[in-house]
Amino acid sequence: MEIAPELVVRLLDAARAARLRAYAPYSQFSVGAAILTGSGEVFVGVNIENASYPATICAERAAVAAAVSAGARDLLAVAVVGPQGRPCPPCGICRQVLAEFNSEMAVVLEDGENGWHVLSLTELLPGAFTARHLTTSPGGEGGWTDQR
Ligand SMILES: [Zn+2]
Repeated sequence: MEIAPELVVRLLDAARAARLRAYAPYSQFSVGAAILTGSGEVFVGVNIENASYPATICAERAAVAAAVSAGARDLLAVAVVGPQGRPCPPCGICRQVLAEFNSEMAVVLEDGENGWHVLSLTELLPGAFTARHLTTSPGGEGGWTDQR
């Protein structure tokens, strides 16, 4: 997906601001994410760690939860900001959760103070498992061969 530079800046600014509210007392690895919807709204999320480490939720999934909880389903892009301005790509679980709503979503990664990379979620999670696989018959619609 193409994304205008002014939208990239808007999303990165929102993700940076959100990142300041991350709850990361164990790793000190604070992350902020911002999701753009089809109606132009922006929803943010932060990583929320837990003393029971597997209960931790990433910033991207927190942002999806905020967007979907507000009724949004048309998720167009996500920006992710991690520590020290280095690119912080979504983890595998987050890629899967993002793909639920748009497998071609634009993923914006901060790279330095004024830099960024825009990737497609398709690049980050090729061959994603999606709802269409839940109704697969061998060789039929939704089968593996349909992904090529
Ligand atoms: Zn994640």
